[in-house]
Amino acid sequence: MLGLILVIEDEVDLATTLEYNLEREGYQTRVAHTGQGGLDAALKDPVPDAIVLDLMLPDIPGTEVCRRLREHERTRDVPVLMCTAKGGEIDRVVGFEVGADDYVVKPFSVRELLLRIRAILRRAQRVESEPEVLRFGRLRIDREAHRVWVDETELGLTALEFRLLAAFMARKGRVQTRDTLLSDVWGIEADVTTRTVDTHVKRLREKLGEAGAYIETLRGVGYRFRDQPEEA
Ligand code: CA
Repeated sequence: MLGLILVIEDEVDLATTLEYNLEREGYQTRVAHTGQGGLDAALKDPVPDAIVLDLMLPDIPGTEVCRRLREHERTRDVPVLMCTAKGGEIDRVVGFEVGADDYVVKPFSVRELLLRIRAILRRAQRVESEPEVLRFGRLRIDREAHRVWVDETELGLTALEFRLLAAFMARKGRVQTRDTLLSDVWGIEADVTTRTVDTHVKRLREKLGEAGAYIETLRGVGYRFRDQPEEA
């Protein structure tokens, strides 16, 4: 089995088309036609491996559905592919800000959707199977011992900086908003602002030296740890 895909889409014809094509590819599917129905379906056992989420739903907007999926412990790491009828940069930002992993603009081809799903599943599976000692370009990180090296030089990171780096590396290639980092690294109850995130990312980058370039700033959105050490 390739995985279980939850499709949250109120256009019944489109939902049926996606269901048919996903199953033909070898996926299992679960379909919901409302935002609330989608949230309920996402929490049912087994938790889906990926979620295809329409932006415009009759009850709860897709962005809000996505935000709630990210808040819930069981679904926070499930990759979300957002479908939007509206193109443009604003939707892209909105989608990523609430924690979507990728998006497609309607009308999209089934083939494109299948490719995107395959890509987000591959990224998610890679994170799960990572060993305790990670290597990334010039960086080596021992998650058990909380030690980090750039080439052969060990860095003196604070516990918080280590958690921040680990959070980055756990979601390589994906956009990470300041809010996501706040809740992952500081915990949601912490009384800090998103500016705190920027300050600590800056210090972490400085300590990493040249390896600090692996952490990219996405203006107005957040950060992204490179998918590969060498990127154009
Ligand atoms: Ca819709």
